[in-house]
Amino acid sequence: MIQRVGEAIVLRTWPFLEADLLVSLFTRDQGRIKGVARHALRSRRRFGGALEPMTYVRASYVERPRQELVRLDAFEILSSPLSQPVDYARTAALQLIAEVLEEALPEQAAEDTVFRLALSILAELQVGRIWLPITYFCLWMNRLMGWMPELGHCVVCGEPLRRQQVLGGSAQGNRQVWYSATSDGVTCFDDRRPGSTPLSAAAVETAQRIFRGPVRDLAAEDWPPNRVPDLRRFAIETLERHLEHRLQSARALDRL
Ligand SMILES: [Zn+2]
Repeated sequence: MIQRVGEAIVLRTWPFLEADLLVSLFTRDQGRIKGVARHALRSRRRFGGALEPMTYVRASYVERPRQELVRLDAFEILSSPLSQPVDYARTAALQLIAEVLEEALPEQAAEDTVFRLALSILAELQVGRIWLPITYFCLWMNRLMGWMPELGHCVVCGEPLRRQQVLGGSAQGNRQVWYSATSDGVTCFDDRRPGSTPLSAAAVETAQRIFRGPVRDLAAEDWPPNRVPDLRRFAIETLERHLEHRLQSARALDRL
């Protein structure tokens, strides 16, 4: 048996046997793991308040030989999303982050960059301030998983795609960025695939800014829900295509 203590983010819990919980944890040192919190429903002393999705904890657990599930002994809360005000939108946004981490991360592979990304997003994701953190997180997850297409060139003809908004005129409009929810890369207008969606110039520019700096810097600006909604949709649909799975929490956010 190996006793471990380390930073982790709670992703999800499921009832398990009678009073136990199965917990999916994103640990800093070992990546995503699953463990059993015995009597978690009865014993609030060891886990009380620390089992909400996206709670940042110091987890004590034991790895057992030939057992896939670790034994979770105790969580010490380092930061709880519930220490800040909560509403429907923030709850759905926190669930989206947890769901993407749960679905995208391989088991037992340390992903320190993703871990730091998740912590920086947690700090910014507050009531009335969810749209930038969500967009930032989903776009970066695509990049860190190797799923982010290059936006500067058409993947079919190789022509450069313009950043500035072009209205009318097929020759110029041809340079707009188009993406499809069913295939890799972005294209020009002429090479767009059936069912393609255009990305606005503002979306392409925002994506470049997101890849250049920390979320904290961009958070100084106003990010109302109608600011680059196409970039958010692009980031989420790209994740969903690679996960081969619709993100439930993204649908919840659509209803806002
Ligand atoms: Zn093209």
